[in-house]
Amino acid sequence: MLNIVIFGAPGSGKGTQSELIVKKYNLVHLSTGDMLRDEIARGTDIGRFADTLISKGNLVPDDLIIKMISAKIDERKGDCNGFIFDGFPRTVAQAEALDALLASFGKKLTLMLDLRVEEPLLVERLLKRGETSHRADDNLEVIKKRLQVYHEVTMPVIEFYKSTGRYVAVENCTTVEEYFQSIVQLIEFSICGF
Ligand code: ADP
Repeated sequence: MLNIVIFGAPGSGKGTQSELIVKKYNLVHLSTGDMLRDEIARGTDIGRFADTLISKGNLVPDDLIIKMISAKIDERKGDCNGFIFDGFPRTVAQAEALDALLASFGKKLTLMLDLRVEEPLLVERLLKRGETSHRADDNLEVIKKRLQVYHEVTMPVIEFYKSTGRYVAVENCTTVEEYFQSIVQLIEFSICGF
């Protein structure tokens, strides 16, 4: 099984790269942001609760996220090549929970890919996306809050993966295609060691 965490600040291109990786390696794409937006669109209790947090740029509580992702892993673990986790884990507690979930059926995380993008470019991209995404959190005030939460709560996840030898940075790329080529090389290296 190939199990990958795609990590990075809001606007770093996690969703875009996930789609490309999924096609090439035939993985199941699990985006916690997409799952939450789906709950919101369906007007569920979880969706209503999550909306109050997401629209202010805050994180949704760990226990809710872990329950949601655990159910999705259970649904697909028997019939897929592996998973790509997009926007998850966002806290060290979530990262620990992911290891435990994978270990519960004898699997491991292959690697964590950290998409490194300069902050001014992140803001520019998110504002541009806001023009068409109609996402409640793609406006300047909430973008600033999301970046602050990323620095304070999510960045410690990097140390967690560094300390367990699964961290890989993807940097110095400009185009979507360039990022993807780097990612493919890193995945191939982690699979075959060349
Ligand atoms: P982005 O990376 O652009 O912020 P996402 O779709 O990954 O977009 O997340 C949007 C919002 O959904 C986050 O700001 C947060 O409020 C919530 N969210 C998504 N994933 C998680 C998670 N793993 N833990 C807590 N909250 C999450």
